[in-house]
Amino acid sequence: MRLVLVGPPGAGKGTQAAALSERLGVPHVSTGDLFRDHVARGTPLGRAARRHLDSGTLVPDHVTGGLVRERLAQSDARDGFLLDGFPRTVPQARELAAVLGATGSALDAVLEFTAPEEVVVARLLGRGRPDDTQDVIRHRQQVYEQQTAPLLAHYAAILLTVRAVGPVEDITERAMAALSEAERRAG
Ligand code: AMP
Repeated sequence: MRLVLVGPPGAGKGTQAAALSERLGVPHVSTGDLFRDHVARGTPLGRAARRHLDSGTLVPDHVTGGLVRERLAQSDARDGFLLDGFPRTVPQARELAAVLGATGSALDAVLEFTAPEEVVVARLLGRGRPDDTQDVIRHRQQVYEQQTAPLLAHYAAILLTVRAVGPVEDITERAMAALSEAERRAG
């Protein structure tokens, strides 16, 4: 399975990606985690990305695209993956389609996680990541609305929407059910 997870910051993508990755037996690829790892190791890429992570702006596409290309070329991602946090813009989605197309593959589905604003803000404030301050959260939400939400129309043909409210396990079950239903429909 080649899947993409989308949803506003705080929708629980990371938590669901970890659970789904285990259930589906495909690696969880989080661009945010990859960037945070580079920042922690102080690599040149980490130094270039750091101010974007701190302020909640998007790391430039050429940097992000290279990172994803390299990760998807690793052998564990050959037969499937769960992308969390990429693509975040329509140009990134085109880049991903080109990367996959070059090996004759394509995405199977895009899972959209939705939750009311007060739920996502409460989750983020409870998480305590350095970029989870009120101002940066607000900015990341604006970035999502302006740059990432257009992906929903871009992926309309393979989009599965999951209500991301309630216990973590219930949300995972809803996502699994949506994937099974989509597989059944695709025959
Ligand atoms: P996340 O862990 O997905 O919330 O991402 C944390 C931060 O990493 C974001 O606020 C961006 O600064 C950066 N980032 C993650 N994924 C991307 C992406 N696909 N494009 C650009 N920046 C990204």
